[in-house]
Amino acid sequence: MDLGIRGRRALVCAASRGLGLGCARALAEAGVDLVMNARGAAALEAAAQAIRDDFGVQVTAVAADITTPEGRAAVTAAADQVDILVTNAGGPPPGMWSDWSRDDFIRALDANMLTPIALMQWALPGMIDRRWGRVVNITSQSVKSPIPALGLSNSARAGLTGFVAGTSRQVAPQGVTINNLLPGIHATDRAIQLDRGVAQAEGITLAEAAARRAATIPVRRYGTAEEFGATCAFLCSVHAGFIVGQNISLDGGAFVGTI
Ligand code: NAP
Repeated sequence: MDLGIRGRRALVCAASRGLGLGCARALAEAGVDLVMNARGAAALEAAAQAIRDDFGVQVTAVAADITTPEGRAAVTAAADQVDILVTNAGGPPPGMWSDWSRDDFIRALDANMLTPIALMQWALPGMIDRRWGRVVNITSQSVKSPIPALGLSNSARAGLTGFVAGTSRQVAPQGVTINNLLPGIHATDRAIQLDRGVAQAEGITLAEAAARRAATIPVRRYGTAEEFGATCAFLCSVHAGFIVGQNISLDGGAFVGTI
């Protein structure tokens, strides 16, 4: 299927590996020029060069922490006008409800709620002027089905979800769509990090921890960054203009609900 977005320009945040990279590669395959971001310059430049080599699109790599005002200023200065925005950042650490301080919550809110909101506030006016735009926020399955140890993530992402629910309806008349993609367990460094925590806590091997988690997913495996990226690219396509304000689970059926 031709996604109809060849020659468009996208900013994909937190994209040197994992789900962000999956989105960047799928958009590049559809002919979209990219601005990519992550903190680590070497891995980011390697990912950017691989995309240039594989898909022949223009890629600008900006090494910066997207959760800081300085980082966002560097990224948005390089990105200038974009037609497509994919927001993403690392997830907060797991822990216990009783341990988190106000500062812990502020950090989580900054990273996983206020950063995507600031990026939307930056990108939306141009999209509205040009009467076309696509925003995809990478959130989490924890929005629909909270993960107890990830209370910081549950809290911050719930706030972002509320913002998108209203704002997506305000910008839809101007041809701009905003949707959230909710990853379940995917085979990325983040998932391995969480498996390692379980393995240590329960005195089992990493492979056993991963096998236990995979067994909880109806498809009996972790998702891939390629599958995730393909869904993101579709949401950014010309075919997805009627999909507005949705929270789309990519979780292999893990969330059990009729709707
Ligand atoms: P990942 O494999 O750890 O990759 C994270 C990417 O984000 C890397 O490129 C990393 O590069 C970049 N990054 C992290 N913090 C950043 C920051 N402050 N500024 C700029 N770039 C940053 O993670 P992932 O699995 O793709 O997860 C992406 C998001 O989905 C996270 O918020 C995660 O919580 C959420 N999620 C993931 C899963 C899963 O199973 N994988 C499930 C539910 C939710 P640098 O470290 O070099 O900055």
